[in-house]
Amino acid sequence: MGKELDKRQGIVDGDTCEEVKVFASDYIDNELPRNFKLRLKNHILECKKCRVFIRELKEVVRFSKGLYTPVPEGVRCRLRVLLKKEMQANPVIRRKRA
Ligand SMILES: [Zn+2]
Repeated sequence: MGKELDKRQGIVDGDTCEEVKVFASDYIDNELPRNFKLRLKNHILECKKCRVFIRELKEVVRFSKGLYTPVPEGVRCRLRVLLKKEMQANPVIRRKRA
């Protein structure tokens, strides 16, 4: 009986949610077959969860594309030294013995 209900609400089913997650980057890059893309698109229009997911992924893609510049080696070295110092200054909290 639960299954009947699931079928009727089939458009927001977990399987398509999974597909959206798996193919999200292809979807954004327009690299999916038309039919498949349409299917995902219809689902995304109906499914709030996937809509948010796609929107956030688009933001991330735009952000990372805009920001992608290799870090110069000198900076990386300094960062590593800083990190080491930071780690030495803040050793893992030792468990107090009662
Ligand atoms: Zn979904």
